Parts: sequence; C-alpha cells; structure tokens
Amino acid sequence: MERLFSTGTGCTGQESAVVAHFCTELSLILTRGLPATHSCPSLRGGKTRVGDTSNNDARTVLAKNKVRRYYHARRATRSMKTETHDHPYGKAVAKLIEEFGNLPGIGRKSAERLANHILSSSSDEANALADAIRKVKISVKRCSMCFNLTEDTLCRICSDARRDQHVVCVVEQPKDVVALESSGAYSGLYHVLGGRIAPLDGVGPEDLTIPQLVHRVRKQGITELVMATNPTLEGDGTALFITNLLQNDNVRITRLARGIASGSVLEFANREMLADALKGRQQF
Ligand SMILES: [Zn+2]
Repeated sequence: MERLFSTGTGCTGQESAVVAHFCTELSLILTRGLPATHSCPSLRGGKTRVGDTSNNDARTVLAKNKVRRYYHARRATRSMKTETHDHPYGKAVAKLIEEFGNLPGIGRKSAERLANHILSSSSDEANALADAIRKVKISVKRCSMCFNLTEDTLCRICSDARRDQHVVCVVEQPKDVVALESSGAYSGLYHVLGGRIAPLDGVGPEDLTIPQLVHRVRKQGITELVMATNPTLEGDGTALFITNLLQNDNVRITRLARGIASGSVLEFANREMLADALKGRQQF
C-alpha cells in the first residue's frame, strides 16, 4: 500500500506527510498489533500491549488511546446492564432500557426516559414504532451502482437521467449523500465507500467499495471524481489511495474545498482551517 501511495504524482508536501503518517500507522498495526488473547475487537490479533511504555511515540499513544476508549465504552455498557438488570418494573423494562442505551448518543437517563415514554404510550403507538424499525431493516438495501441506501435496485439519484452521469462524488457513508444533496449545489452521481481505510480499526481497502468504484470509472466513462471523504487523517488517506489507484486512468480527480466555513469568523477558526483556507484561496 505504501508503494501505491508513494507512486502518486502531484501531491503537495502536506499530502505527502499525511500519506507517510498513514502508511506508518498501517504498517504499525500490521507488524505489531495486539496479542491474540486481547478482547478488543478492533485491535485483536497483534502484539502491542496496553501497558508497554518502551516506545512512547505518537503512534503508540494513538493505539493506547484506542484501547482506552474501547474499555471505557465497555465499562459504560456493563454499568448500564448492571443497573438495569434488576429494574423495579421487571426484566422486560430492563431489557428495553438496555436496548435504548445501545443507541448512539443515548445514556442511562435518556434510555430510561425513552422507556418510560413507551410505557405511557398506547399499544398502537408502540407497535407503530416497532413496525417502522422492522420494516426499514427489511426493505432498505444498498443501491447496486453507488451503494447508497434505497428500497429499489437503483437509488433515486442513480435512476435520475437528468443528473450528470459523468461526474461522481465519492463519500464515506450514505448520510454524507444526504448532507451534500441538501446543499442543492451538486447534480452528478455518488459513490458510497462504506467507510474509510482505518488500520487501527482493522478496515482495509478490501473492506470498502473501492474495486467497484474503479470498475465504474473504467466502464462508465466517468470524467471527474469529486473526493468528499471526511477531512481527517483516515479520510484524506483513503482519498489519496483511490487517487493513486486511478493515476493512469483518464479521469480528473478533485476534492471539496476546505478552510473557513461560511458565516464563521476568523477569530474562532483553528490553525488547520486557516492553513487550508490560505492554501486554497481564490481569485476575488
Ligand atoms: Zn445509486
């Protein structure tokens, strides 16, 4: 993979630094990792130990923070299960609170509040919620072309002949499509990767829809790819990986502008935002 990155042309110094750091992370997790007996699912299978302080560099700190976050989340889940196991209302309510607590952004208090709301609702209202959850899991699937979420074989965007069929915007998740569509400023197609290359989470290029994207570019006459992965280390690394895969293909690869957000003020912009804004300045 490092060879693929390093063979890219036209990378700026900052991009090269990002690639180098990304490759180092990947090689670290591949060569060291965590012991096979480690129970953390995202880091299982390597040799790095949580208490190892012999190599206290940035990469080791990253891996340790990952493990700490995992154990913190596991302790919180266990705590909620313990507290809700013997709920005064009975096991069914305890189970409902536990399930609500597994939702993102929902703590123990919020889970109890939601469970109390369900208990005070009518049977019809509670069943309507249960049916909606069941139905969405049955009917919603991936678009066969762009991997966006849809109830049909092709999503609404892919089947719209009025959209530009030669421009594809590459995003990490279906929710990114929703965000970009809300702008109303884009009329091309999309390609949902299903995540980003994240060595520390055990996510490699083969876990994403990158081969399908390459196939689309080569078979469907795509003339421009707009990289809209998140502006993070892993998002930028994923975009550069795809760029290098397609460096010999006749396709223009661009990425979203970054820097100062519209409506914000310079005073509150961080260093990275200001650097990006200066680098990407435009003719007034
Ligand atoms: Zn689609």
